[in-house]
Amino acid sequence: MKICVLPGDGIGTEITAQAVRVLQALELKFEMEEAPIGGAGYRALGHPLPESTLALAKASDAILFGAVGDFSLDHLPRELRPEQAILGLRKALNLFANFRPAIVYPELVQASTLKAEVVAGLDILIIRELTGDIYFGQPRGIRRLDNGEREGFDTMRYAESEIRRVAHVGFQAARKRSGRLCSVDKANVLESSQVWREVAIRVGKDYPTVKLSHMYVDNAAMQLLKNPRQFDVIVTGNMFGDILSDEASMLTGSIGMLPSASLNDRKFGLYEPIHGSAPDIAGKDIANPLATILSAAMMLRYSFDRAEDAVRIETAVKKVLALGIRTGDIYEPGMTKVGTAGMGDAVLAAL
Ligand code: NAD
Repeated sequence: MKICVLPGDGIGTEITAQAVRVLQALELKFEMEEAPIGGAGYRALGHPLPESTLALAKASDAILFGAVGDFSLDHLPRELRPEQAILGLRKALNLFANFRPAIVYPELVQASTLKAEVVAGLDILIIRELTGDIYFGQPRGIRRLDNGEREGFDTMRYAESEIRRVAHVGFQAARKRSGRLCSVDKANVLESSQVWREVAIRVGKDYPTVKLSHMYVDNAAMQLLKNPRQFDVIVTGNMFGDILSDEASMLTGSIGMLPSASLNDRKFGLYEPIHGSAPDIAGKDIANPLATILSAAMMLRYSFDRAEDAVRIETAVKKVLALGIRTGDIYEPGMTKVGTAGMGDAVLAAL
């Protein structure tokens, strides 16, 4: 089992170091190799996704990713900016299914901006299609109209095969959880969504134990705030998923706690916290490493079929929270405040 570790920029180095310690503590004989990416890739090798880094990623079974982003490189042309690295990896490795769980831990229920009785016990999973839709659809561009004004245009499109493969991922995930899958689209207005819905229904015939429902995206945005616990697994397209998964993450109120996975059809995955490189707190040993540690747990579950080891990590994190150990971002008076490495120590002790 070979893991490619890509710490990246800002707090990326600090948080991945803690996740690596946790993985090592499981004594599962992982081979781990590190490479520069993002701003670090540009500084070391002249490109945000250096060829040697991509080669290492391709030769591995999974990627543990920190974060990329370095404001001091924002003057570079777009293709050399740190953020291009993650887009390049998704494309090169065909990572079409993005898993974003949003879990509200009982100890952190006050961190949400929503009332505790609405979010307590929340545990939902949003699966977002990641390589198609309006973000990649052609034609796109900016053109001059006959009346002289400019017009920007993009194309929302989904091929049946693109929908089918992510729908399968959604049904399989739902089957492992509560057996409920909600497919989110805008089939009342968009042709691409009409095809989406038809394919979702067809794929559903292969999963008789999963109850499929459909919801329009505008309603889904409302329902996530009104009664988020009605959902278990949501599957949706790239743009709707982009927006809904960020909305769902904020139900939990703690950006430093949320992991994610981006998978291809061979269980290869890129595992990363949902937050960025947080340059404002980089190098100060105050970043919360739990999102990255929980991303490592997702790696064990989805790429290595080691659900029992994933649960060990998740249980250790819950135990640390129950003990009142907190980094600054989730701190409340009366708790024990620790830094990045201190949180890593606490998770190791709980393991
Ligand atoms: P950010 O997620 O880095 O930070 C937002 C806020 O949350 C900051 O105040 C930060 O201090 C805080 N924060 C984030 N992670 C934290 C953690 N683990 N513990 C405690 N506090 C945490 O978003 P931003 O400031 O908008 O972007 C910074 C850089 O990150 C930009 O260059 C952006 O492009 C990049 N970015 C990268 C990714 C990625 O690598 N996948 C994702 C989002 C943003």
